[in-house]
Amino acid sequence: MKNLSLIQLLEQVKSRNPHEIEFHHAVEEVLNSLEPLFEVEPKWLKSGILERIVEPERLIHFRVSWVDDGGVVRVNRGFRVQFNSALGPYKGGLRFHPSVRPSIIKFLGFEQCFKNALTGLPMGGGKGGSDFDPKGKSDGEIMRFCQAFMSELYRHIGSDIDVPAGDMGVGAREIGYLYGMYKKLSNVHAQGVLTGKSVNFGGSLVRTQATGYGLVYFVQNMLKDKNEDFKGKRVIVSGSGNVSIYAIEKAQELGALVVACSDSNGTIVDENGLDLALIKEIKEVKRERIQRYCNVHPNAIYHPDPKALYDVRCDIALPCATQGEIQIEQAQSLYDNGCRFVAEGANMPSSLKAIQFFLDQGVYFGPAKAANAGGVATSGLEMSQNSLRLAWAFEEVDQRLHGIMDQIYAQAKQTAIVYKDPDNLVMGSNIASFKRLAEAMLAQGVL
Ligand code: NDP
Repeated sequence: MKNLSLIQLLEQVKSRNPHEIEFHHAVEEVLNSLEPLFEVEPKWLKSGILERIVEPERLIHFRVSWVDDGGVVRVNRGFRVQFNSALGPYKGGLRFHPSVRPSIIKFLGFEQCFKNALTGLPMGGGKGGSDFDPKGKSDGEIMRFCQAFMSELYRHIGSDIDVPAGDMGVGAREIGYLYGMYKKLSNVHAQGVLTGKSVNFGGSLVRTQATGYGLVYFVQNMLKDKNEDFKGKRVIVSGSGNVSIYAIEKAQELGALVVACSDSNGTIVDENGLDLALIKEIKEVKRERIQRYCNVHPNAIYHPDPKALYDVRCDIALPCATQGEIQIEQAQSLYDNGCRFVAEGANMPSSLKAIQFFLDQGVYFGPAKAANAGGVATSGLEMSQNSLRLAWAFEEVDQRLHGIMDQIYAQAKQTAIVYKDPDNLVMGSNIASFKRLAEAMLAQGVL
């Protein structure tokens, strides 16, 4: 970064948010890639737009007390960041994971503002969650935790205020419990207050598949630009949760050979192509460890290290697990093993150095804000259906999702071309989303 005011702003963000490394990383990535815009349009450096964009409108921090199956009182921390409402009600998922702390919630909320802007839908940016660890908890404990969490969150959300959804550790089961408690406390069946609901009570078809499918639709565009497609490509996918499973499903449907995936304990490699029905049974139904895959397919190999995934030979890598998975070592290993396309299903899985390495080496890179926006876009479609009191068919939602992903790719690509770095989709998506967000903020005055 060469621009003095950007350097000063980044320093200010670091000193005002000490030790929040993930948040610093997210801000640095955006500021860095906006530099070419400010060279030709310095007006964006005025009106305190940048100073305001890096500061959340509100950060809510609360206690969540609940009772476990043994009768012991447990206390967790709950968070909701309402980052930016210029484009619409705050919108973004809830994450239940022991690593959740303000830095994680703020980086996710900051990224969400730009991601939502790219979808073209009227959604502001927010994010939330808790350091609660759902692993090993009984169904009753999950329900009591969700109820306790909502007993505070409900006063801060609403279909025109803030609309949470799922993220890591929060799927349809948790959204159901959260929604039930919201309804009980508010005495309102306000379906538009949460997305990711079951289709029985206002959920949208395709929402479960949306982030994974959307990621693959985005990569289809990347491949097409290089005169390639998924047929016969070797693909690796990190994680084996919601995003990973449906990325694997769509990539397989398009003819890819998906050879490896992982969980937080380890990696499985199956040269015959992954058995997705088995992975769904292990992870979605039984909620067990991915290692069990090898009991059914003894030819598959298990490595007790999630990072071993990035040593597997592949054409396309889809990191879909969590932040910080790809450091420079994993980026180098991917490149050495033939990988030429990387697209982020997870939020911020690649370090800044890893991203720069991909850009320098000509590995075509799809950043999270653009590539994984399919989940929130379909949440936006769920909100529309709730307002209309209608439910669209699977094919209709899927087609809209596909259209939105094509349009996000086109925006990122065309912007990258305009700013003379045609394969830099990081810059392209950051500039395109920043302009939409900043224009809305300018038009609404200093708030
Ligand atoms: P899930 O909780 O459904 O799945 C997360 C998966 O990642 C699990 O398989 C988990 O394994 C695995 N995992 C966690 N840490 C690691 C690690 N260090 N190494 C390897 N695997 C790991 O979450 P989602 O699929 O919903 O979310 C995944 C990512 O996608 C997150 O970054 C999220 O923010 C992002 N995202 C999600 C969206 C959504 O719609 N769900 C939308 C946009 C982005 P284990 O079972 O061992 O915990």
